[in-house]
Amino acid sequence: MKHMLEMTCDELSAAIKALGLPAFRGRQIFQWIWDKRVGDFAAMTNLSRDLRERLAGTMTALTGRIIRSREASDGVIKLLIEWPDGERIETVMIPTRPGEAPSARRTACISTQVGCAVGCVFCASGLEGVSRDLTAGEIVEQVYLWDTQPGAARVTHVVLMGMGEPLANYEATVAAVRILIDPDRGGLSARHITLSTVGLPDQIRRLAGEGIPLNLAISLHAPNDELRRRLIPAATGVSIDELIDAGCEYFSRTGRELTLEYVLLAGVNDSPACAEQLADLTRRLRCNVNLIRYNPVAGLPFSRPAEREVVAFRDRLRRLGANVQIRASRGADADAACGQLRRTGVSS
Ligand code: SAH
Ligand code: SF4
Repeated sequence: MKHMLEMTCDELSAAIKALGLPAFRGRQIFQWIWDKRVGDFAAMTNLSRDLRERLAGTMTALTGRIIRSREASDGVIKLLIEWPDGERIETVMIPTRPGEAPSARRTACISTQVGCAVGCVFCASGLEGVSRDLTAGEIVEQVYLWDTQPGAARVTHVVLMGMGEPLANYEATVAAVRILIDPDRGGLSARHITLSTVGLPDQIRRLAGEGIPLNLAISLHAPNDELRRRLIPAATGVSIDELIDAGCEYFSRTGRELTLEYVLLAGVNDSPACAEQLADLTRRLRCNVNLIRYNPVAGLPFSRPAEREVVAFRDRLRRLGANVQIRASRGADADAACGQLRRTGVSS
C-alpha cells in the first residue's frame, strides 16, 4: 500500500472506502494527519475504538522508528531512523539560536537516499555506497517527524542536504516536494525549500521545468574540472561548463538565484588561484557562493583551513565581485553537520 503521507485526501478516502468504510472517514483521517499532525490512529479520538483498532491493524501513517537521538551543544538535533526493511538514515533539525533571527526558524535537513552512490571523497554519507532510494513518503516523513516532536513548533524551512543525492532519486524527491508545498498537506513555501545537488545537468534542466520555485544549490567544490574530478570521482562525465549552463537555464526558467556550495579543504581547493578561478565562474551566472568549512569525518585525509584562511578566501572572492558567505557550521559535536551523516549514526 502507498505510504499514507503520499496520499491526497481523495486517495485516502478511496483506500478507506476499499475497506468497506464510508469515504468521509478518509477525510477525517486526512484532517488528523495534516491539520492536526496526528499520525497515530489511537489518538484520532472522533473515530470509534473499533475503527481505530481496525485501521491500526491494516495500515500505518508513519513507518519510521526513531532509533537514536543526539543533540549538539548548539541545539542541533539528529535522529537516526529505521524503516521497516531495516534500512537506516539520519535527519537533522537546525533551530535558530536564541536571538539569532527576528523570527524563529526550524530548518529540517532531510535525506533522500540510504547512503549515496556519488562518493565525494570528503563526505561520510557516500562511504558505503547507496543501498536504496527513499520513497516520497519516507522523505516527507522526516519533516513530519520534526513537526511532531513533543513541544516543538512546526518546521519552517527544509533543506534537501542530508544523505543521498536528491536528483539521483528524482521522481520521489519531486513528489515529496510537491507534498511539502501542498497547502492542504505540508503547507510550506517552495521558497523555504532548498535542494542541494552534486550537479546532474539533465535533471537540473528537468527540475527547471517542474514549475516549482525551489532554491537550488549546486555542490561545486572546485573551480576547474581537473580538481573537481578528483574530489567528486562520479563527476568525471560532467564538466563545470555544462553545470553552469544548466544553472543558467534553472535561473532563467524559475527566477531563483542559485547557490554554489564550496567545501573548503585545507591545501586542496583553498588557494588564491582557486578563488580567482571561482570568481571567474560566478560572473557567468546569477549566484551566491556558500563556503562550507570542512567538517571532519573519521578516517578521511582532509582538514579544515585555519579561520583566517577561510576569511581570506571569502574576502578575495568579494574583492573580485562575487556574492559570498561562509556557512555557519552547526551540529558538529553530534556529528550532525554537513557531510557527517551516516546510515549507522556513528562516527567511526
Ligand atoms: N548530495 C547532495 C546533498 C547532500 S550533501 C550534494 O552533494 O549537494 C550537502 C552538502 O554538504 C554538500 O554541499 C556537500 O558537498 C557538503 N559536504 C559533504 N561532506 C562534507 C564535509 N565533510 N564537510 C562539509 N561539508 C560537506
Ligand atoms: Fe553524496 Fe552529496 Fe555526500 Fe557527495 S556530498 S557523497 S553527492 S551526499
